[in-house]
Amino acid sequence: MRIVLIGPPGVGKGTQAALLSRRLGIPHISTGDLFRDHVRRRTPLGRDAQRYLDAGELVPDHVTAGMVRRRLEEPDTARGFLLDGFPRTVRQARELSAILAETGAALDAVLELTAPEDVVVARLRGRGRPDDTEEVIRHRQTVYRRRTAPLLAHYAVLLLTVNAVGTVEDIGDRALTALADLSAGAAGAGAEDGAA
Ligand code: AMP
Repeated sequence: MRIVLIGPPGVGKGTQAALLSRRLGIPHISTGDLFRDHVRRRTPLGRDAQRYLDAGELVPDHVTAGMVRRRLEEPDTARGFLLDGFPRTVRQARELSAILAETGAALDAVLELTAPEDVVVARLRGRGRPDDTEEVIRHRQTVYRRRTAPLLAHYAVLLLTVNAVGTVEDIGDRALTALADLSAGAAGAGAEDGAA
């Protein structure tokens, strides 16, 4: 399956992505992790990206999309992938569709994780990543509302919304159930087509 995970910073995308990736046997691709790896290795891309990460701003779309394109060209993505933190803008979503269309592929589902803002902000305060200062935490929430939330309408037909308040296991079960229902629905639709 080709899945995109969307949700505000702190909602638990990384944790759920790791769990779902294991359960579904598809690679977990986090653009935040890819950027942090470039920063650590001091690559030219990492040097360009660092100030955006530090400020909680989005790295420019062309830089981000280029990095994702290279990652999706790796052979482990042939059976599917779970994208965590990409796309974050409608422009990136269009770029992703174009990349996938080159090999005749398309997304199967967009999984939205939701939780009240005070819950996600409290989680980020306890996490301790360098970009988890109070000011940057708040700014990342604003960037999410302004730039990423519009993607939910863009992906309306693929969207599965999962309540992300609860234990890691419960949330994972909700997500897996939503994905299984989707597959069953697709199979059912196929059977109806066959009968008609
Ligand atoms: P994350 O690990 O998803 O919270 O991302 C950490 C930081 O990496 C973000 O605040 C952005 O600066 C950058 N980043 C991650 N994914 C993207 C993306 N799709 N587009 C632009 N910037 C991104």
